[in-house]
Order: sequence, then structure tokens, then C-alpha cells
Amino acid sequence: LRDGTQKAKDLDELERRGYGRRENCRRCEFNIPRMADLACGKWGTEGKKVTFIEVCSDRGSEFLEKAIQAGYLEVEKPSKAAVEERERKDREAFEQALGWQERDRKELEERSTEEKFSYWRSQFDQCIKCYGCRDACPICYCKDCELEADRGIVAAGRIPPSIVFSMIRIIHVVDSCVDCGQCQDACPVEIPLSRLIYLLSREIGTMFKYEPGTEVTSLPPLRSVPDKEPVQV
Ligand code: SF4
Ligand code: SF4
Ligand code: SF4
Repeated sequence: LRDGTQKAKDLDELERRGYGRRENCRRCEFNIPRMADLACGKWGTEGKKVTFIEVCSDRGSEFLEKAIQAGYLEVEKPSKAAVEERERKDREAFEQALGWQERDRKELEERSTEEKFSYWRSQFDQCIKCYGCRDACPICYCKDCELEADRGIVAAGRIPPSIVFSMIRIIHVVDSCVDCGQCQDACPVEIPLSRLIYLLSREIGTMFKYEPGTEVTSLPPLRSVPDKEPVQV
């Protein structure tokens, strides 16, 4: 605070009241992205003006070594206490994420089939087919998207579009969605798109033992979008 005093607030309690992080960040178990070559962050820095760098691959190690040799970085080994602090924070955040996953899951799944159907129907009936969800999604990168009217699946000039519009996109991304939440953030009518895709994607992930976004060499299990797009004539 301005007067130099400190005030602590429980993040979990604040978030239960609707403040704090985006829902996708709350659900995320990967607080330290160890699937990357390097994972950098503040946890474990013991209040110093430094960054904690974890080397997670040979490529990361090589990159870091070059940066040090070129004089871009000065490094020091973290203390045992710093490493423990980082581990503790990661564990706590992981537990918190599991709690949020459970809350989000229960909120939608504890409804009857009829309630679920009418809830999602009313959500998708608000769609204005702005394509914001598709354009914001890192997985929707097709040059020739099946949702465009000239592909003959979704009729032009119809608002709300047929439910097929949303279903196609969901089916295409459900096995590779990384729950980033960009589609939901982009939706002007606030349809909880990524929450739905997340719930479906967890089931597929459990079935096929596949965690999207964590392994560059393994492919999504359903692969509903072909490698080669149709040739335009
Ligand atoms: S949450 Fe999933 S579907 Fe939505 S933008 Fe991110 S990757 Fe795409
Ligand atoms: S994945 Fe499907 S919805 Fe997304 S851009 Fe490709 S064709 Fe369009
Ligand atoms: S962003 Fe929302 S309104 Fe726009 S097309 Fe997607 S679901 Fe429909």
C-alpha cells in the first residue's frame, strides 16, 4: 500500500466471488510450462529482481548457453529454499486448478439431459455468426474453412446460423483444444464456448490418454480436419 503497509487477500476466496483470473487460467494445471524448452517465472525468486529459469530440454539448454556466452544473461544457481518455494507454489496452484475444474464441470454436468439441451440451445441461438470464435482460435487455421458459405454446409445470410455451424467448429477442435479461452473471450454474445469444449475435450483426452498442447510429436486422436485442404478451382 502507499503507506508501506501490506494487506493479504485470499485469491481463492476472491475468485469464488467473481474476481481474479479468467476461468481458463483458473482451470489450467500447467502453471509452469515444462513442456516448453525453457520455463521462466517469478516463483522461487525469493523477492529478488530476477527470473527463475527452468531448462526443460537439450534445445533449451543450448539456447540458454548461447545467451549466456553472448552476454545477454547472467545466471546463478537457485538456493534449495528457492527451489522448494517454487515447487510449493506449483503444487498449490495445481490443487487450486483441480478445484476449479471440478466446480466448472459440476455446474454444467449436474443438469438433466433436457436442461443441458435447452441451456446450450438457448446459448447457440444467440450466435450472430461473426466468426470471432474461429478467428481467435489458434487451432482454426484452415485457409478454406468449412464454415464459410461457399463450402455449402452453412447457409449464407441466416442468423442465428443452424446449430451445425457451432457443432462443426466444436467437433474440429475438440481433440486438440488447449483451453486457452480465446474463442470465449472473442464471442460478443458471451457463449461459454471454451467451457463446453473443455468438458468434451477432457472426456476424449481421458479416453485416448492424450493431453492437447503438451507433446509436439504426438497427433490429436480424432484428427477430424484432413492434413490437406481441398484444392480451390
Ligand atoms: S479454448 Fe480451445 S477452441 Fe477456444 S480458442 Fe482456445 S484452443 Fe480454440
Ligand atoms: S478447424 Fe474447422 S472451423 Fe476451424 S478453421 Fe478449420 S475448418 Fe474452420
Ligand atoms: S464468436 Fe460467438 S457469436 Fe461469433 S460466431 Fe462464434 S459463437 Fe457465434
